[in-house]
Amino acid sequence: MRINIAIDGPSAAGKSTIAKRLATQLNYVHLDTGAMYRCTALKALKSNIKLDDEAAVCEMLKTTDIKMTSDGQIFLDGEDVTKEIRNDDVSMAASDVSKLEKVREDLVKRQQEMAKDKGFIMDGRDIGTVVLKDAEVKIFLTASVEARALRRYKQNQELGILDNDLEKIKEDIAQRDYQDTHREHSPSRQAEDAIKVDTSDLTIDEVVDTIMKIVSERIGSK
Ligand code: C5P
Repeated sequence: MRINIAIDGPSAAGKSTIAKRLATQLNYVHLDTGAMYRCTALKALKSNIKLDDEAAVCEMLKTTDIKMTSDGQIFLDGEDVTKEIRNDDVSMAASDVSKLEKVREDLVKRQQEMAKDKGFIMDGRDIGTVVLKDAEVKIFLTASVEARALRRYKQNQELGILDNDLEKIKEDIAQRDYQDTHREHSPSRQAEDAIKVDTSDLTIDEVVDTIMKIVSERIGSK
């Protein structure tokens, strides 16, 4: 019995890491929807399109191809942008373009098309509330701003990123949280039927185990 799993939650809560691990264990396909907003933002930035110009961003999307491989590589119009889309300026720009209703419509349609069958784990902000409303398991993954900032800080250290400032990371995360939860269209929120998992004091293994239990119960009851 294959099901669909929706994982929503704020920035840097570990959604992608957890979704990837679950996908490997279950032999499911992971779709990182944030990467699609990031690709849209990157292309708009490179094309000098204003991030609040809905018509221009939508026009741009008509000739934009976004592909994700099963091992997590992201291709924008054929070019590997896996690393580039993780830059801080792209993160904030992604949050900006994600406010645009028509942009959301376009990307949501692509996401629903990709996950027509069962066996998908999708992570984002509106998966349980909009994209996969009928997902059998919905998780709202969250953690304190402090825990999320510290994780990002350590990750940057490991990657050798020199411009690494914990306070600045904390501010950026708080600002993106605010923008994502206060936007007019599909604001980030927990679906009524989602199970909240607070990862502040949990290891990755503990989070994966917690969700695997929920998934097993669900599959067992089907
Ligand atoms: O998850 P990630 O941090 O990569 O997402 C980048 C941005 O894209 C988020 O800050 C959010 O504004 C937007 N996003 C969204 N809906 C999704 C996924 C991401 O609005 N399903």
